[in-house]
Amino acid sequence: MFMRNTFVAALALVAVLASPLAAAEETYTIRLAETWGPNSGLLGQSPRNMAAMAEKMSDGRLKFRIDSSNKHKAPFGIFDLVRNGQYDMGHTASYYYKGTIPNAMYFTTIPFGMIAPEMYAWFYHDDGMALMQKVYEPFGLLSFPGGNTSNQMGGWFRKEINSLDDLKGLKMRTPGFAGEVMSELGVAVTNLPPGELYTSLERGTIDAVEWVGPALDLQMGFHQIAKYYYSGWQEPNAEVQFLINQKTWDKLPADLQEILRVSMRTAAYDMYIQSTHESGAAWANMKKEYPEVTHKVFPPEVIGALRDTTNRLLNEFAEKDELANEIITSQREYLQQVRPWTNISDKAYLNSVADQ
Ligand code: CA
Repeated sequence: MFMRNTFVAALALVAVLASPLAAAEETYTIRLAETWGPNSGLLGQSPRNMAAMAEKMSDGRLKFRIDSSNKHKAPFGIFDLVRNGQYDMGHTASYYYKGTIPNAMYFTTIPFGMIAPEMYAWFYHDDGMALMQKVYEPFGLLSFPGGNTSNQMGGWFRKEINSLDDLKGLKMRTPGFAGEVMSELGVAVTNLPPGELYTSLERGTIDAVEWVGPALDLQMGFHQIAKYYYSGWQEPNAEVQFLINQKTWDKLPADLQEILRVSMRTAAYDMYIQSTHESGAAWANMKKEYPEVTHKVFPPEVIGALRDTTNRLLNEFAEKDELANEIITSQREYLQQVRPWTNISDKAYLNSVADQ
């Protein structure tokens, strides 16, 4: 009896010692597909930063293989690649999938909506994360913020926009909700893949192109073709995202899940500040190389029409879909709560020191 009990106890001890050891030694290779091409600047640096941090913090238990769009050939198919399990993770933008999963677009940006600090506050300190998960859960996916471009420019135009008439028939690349708003105002909207934008603008297939801001626009070369650079209205912040297949996530031990979560959040923040840094440098370069590049803002008539159309469409989406209504209402209420603070802090500061 004594012998038997000792044997059982010894077995139990071996099990206790062996299982954490086995978990600690097991490595997981995460396959990640990104929307971006191989030389995408700070967009592609976000998943690579995340991977480098997670590999180091996990002492090599997490490893990553990142495929750019030239490899998987589906820049706007990341949602399906991760959902179907062909990849474990994705790095992309929610609003590219508005055709399949319309409620995803609110998590990238909304025209006339929140700026980046307000959006991050909504994600992490209000209902943003929970609502985003509600949208992705039915597809067996988890979604996390993956980096912010900060305020985006309204785009490069070959001709000045002085009135609403100038928008009619204009062929422009602009994705997401902004594209829907512009179509309502008579713009012929297209969402071409990033690799085709320069040639399309050069050949006149499109008259105007909205991409991001100086940090990412400089390498695209649009300033060599179109000289009017407009401030934006359509993406007052733009959050890209990490997608993770739920089955992959569930396979990971709790410590690796936490390492992944922290790495994604840190990489997202890094992309946001890197965007500010690189935009400052790139805008200075553009003005130096091409002094004829002119900064413009859209006239009040155009901004007013864009805003009215945005609100009308948002109301229509909210009426048609209960979850859309929940997200739109949450964002509107949060903006009402936080914007007065932004107004008396950042906005008042910038206005009060302007031209000094
Ligand atoms: Ca954009």
